[in-house]
Amino acid sequence: MSDDPRKPLTKLVQAGRKPEWTGMPGQPGGIVSPPVWRASTILYDDVAHLRKAAGSSTHERLFYGRKGTPTAWSLADALTEMEPGAEGTMLFPSGVAAIACALMAVLKPGDRLLMVDSAYDPTRSFCTQMLKSHGIETIYYDPVAPALDAHLADGPIRAIFLESPGSLTFEVQDIPAISAWARANGIVTLMDNTWATPLYFPAMAHGVDIAILACTKYIVGHSDVMMGSVTANAQWFGKVRQTAYLFGQMVSPDDAWLAARGLRTLGVRLAQHRDGALAVARWLKDQPEVARVLHPALPDCPGHDLWRRDFSGSTGLFSFVLDGGDEAARAALIDGLAHFGIGYSWGGFESLALPVDPARYRTATRWAAEGPAVRLHIGLEDPADLIADLAAGLARYRAAA
Ligand SMILES: *Cc1c(COP(=O)(O)O)cnc(C)c1O
Repeated sequence: MSDDPRKPLTKLVQAGRKPEWTGMPGQPGGIVSPPVWRASTILYDDVAHLRKAAGSSTHERLFYGRKGTPTAWSLADALTEMEPGAEGTMLFPSGVAAIACALMAVLKPGDRLLMVDSAYDPTRSFCTQMLKSHGIETIYYDPVAPALDAHLADGPIRAIFLESPGSLTFEVQDIPAISAWARANGIVTLMDNTWATPLYFPAMAHGVDIAILACTKYIVGHSDVMMGSVTANAQWFGKVRQTAYLFGQMVSPDDAWLAARGLRTLGVRLAQHRDGALAVARWLKDQPEVARVLHPALPDCPGHDLWRRDFSGSTGLFSFVLDGGDEAARAALIDGLAHFGIGYSWGGFESLALPVDPARYRTATRWAAEGPAVRLHIGLEDPADLIADLAAGLARYRAAA
């Protein structure tokens, strides 16, 4: 797949649309997108065919509903095509399910895992609760100054988990350097690539073994489906697939179809999320009430130079830190916003605002800030409306602070 000459935007349109999934045998032509193939039971012509199916690979073959139908295979193939160097993709009912299964595929009791300190909080919970109970130790490391060799001194490391930019605080990691270090030491690299997607950061081309997406966010793009994906290289795909099968993980054909529909417009959506978020972030940076804007494309963000070197774009999610004030002042800002919803998740077409408290989710590093922080997802609205809304919000904050 690595020598595929097509540009990413072309792949987004064409990927996964195999003729055998969009046409009918013996008839010329076909439809544009693979339809929703709903199934539990698959019927066989006779016992011999049933036995044969059970004894051979079920990958992308009709076998039983849990192993999927062409609707999900098409989406999985499309995600694989978007990630040069990938062997295959498995789909999961949520991003967290994808993270959990990827970790279970590579780790066994007695192993040690390096986990980035700025990881998505439910990823941390899986480590501190599930992995710990399986006898797997998690060691948290600084996203910006990882000092990885020091951890080798205490014993072998099985895997390292990256997330860049980090959740809530958006530190950018040196993925190529960390991946090269891991490879040299026989350590598996897993990365949560939800923020950039393979469109703006092809993780495997930067040395990652296993790339994870919360498809719930930008792949689906419309805030109406939960889904996750794990894309792996040739060394790891077999293990990931086997683990997913053992846990009975799958997605519904209807959800796969909606996610595939979202994928086709990822390019235009991300470009508008990127431009809108940059306009809002640059405006916020100049406001006296704002101490810092945490956005990888702004020069002040930790790791900005790495972002510029490695990423081909920024997306719609970033945070800002208020200059003083308390919970009530922050709530006064957020509560009156007209164009921002208040809620978890992100990646849909709509803007969201969320109070965030990164200090609660850090153990290897300390989060010190001038005041409370707010995470924004910039949707596809006109940024001028969003900026006017935030200006009124900052006035409410000033009055309350
Ligand atoms: C939302 C999110 C997830 C989890 O995805 P769900 O589909 O909500 O389970 C994982 N990683 C990151 C960075 C996220 O933002």
